[in-house]
Amino acid sequence: GTGLLLAALSYAADKHRNQRRKDAEASPYINHPIALAVALSLEGGIDDIPVLCAALLHDTLEDTDATFEELQDCFGLEIASLVAEVSDNKALSKADRKSKQIENAPSLSNGAKLIKLADKLCNLRDIAACPPADWSAARKREYCLWAKQVVDGVRGVNHGLEGKFNEAFERLVGNR
Ligand code: NDP
Ligand code: ZN
Repeated sequence: GTGLLLAALSYAADKHRNQRRKDAEASPYINHPIALAVALSLEGGIDDIPVLCAALLHDTLEDTDATFEELQDCFGLEIASLVAEVSDNKALSKADRKSKQIENAPSLSNGAKLIKLADKLCNLRDIAACPPADWSAARKREYCLWAKQVVDGVRGVNHGLEGKFNEAFERLVGNR
């Protein structure tokens, strides 16, 4: 288990090596997949190795030259399929991708729901602590409202992480 986890971390670090997050300091991209795996493990109590590996790999299909076949060769069908489940269809427009995430969330597998929940939790935390440099308050709020719609479709999968998401959401958006 530990070996596969470290191999997934190494693969993701290599694939994201030239990418940065959108915050003012342009943080290394890999910090984000690591944050998901840490949240799942320490805050969600998740010890399922395929889920933790897929969390580390969750943005490789969408944002790098990684392919499903390569993920399957390196990590097996279960992990490759989890990553595919949480990846947007890049043939769609940005707006369609956003509405598809809301629409598809309830029918994801449990593992994919956990990764979606952790992804939205970590992105809200980033918006609070190190937001995209050029985002207005209105844009941050719009993102939080969309993320909550996705999370509403995966509720029930992990009480602890859901509570943390709710806290992050309330802190950013409040009860307005
Ligand atoms: P997003 O609005 O989806 O950008 C957010 C994504 O960027 C996150 O989901 C996250 O994705 C990633 N990300 C990277 N760094 C950070 C960070 N520091 N904090 C939080 N998230 C980060 O994508 P786009 O910027 O491409 O915009 C597309 C959408 O935004 C369109 O639907 C458009 O309509 C809308 N829009 C709204 C505007 C407004 O003012 N309201 C203005 C312009 C566009 P991941 O988890 O994959 O890393
Ligand atoms: Zn992500």
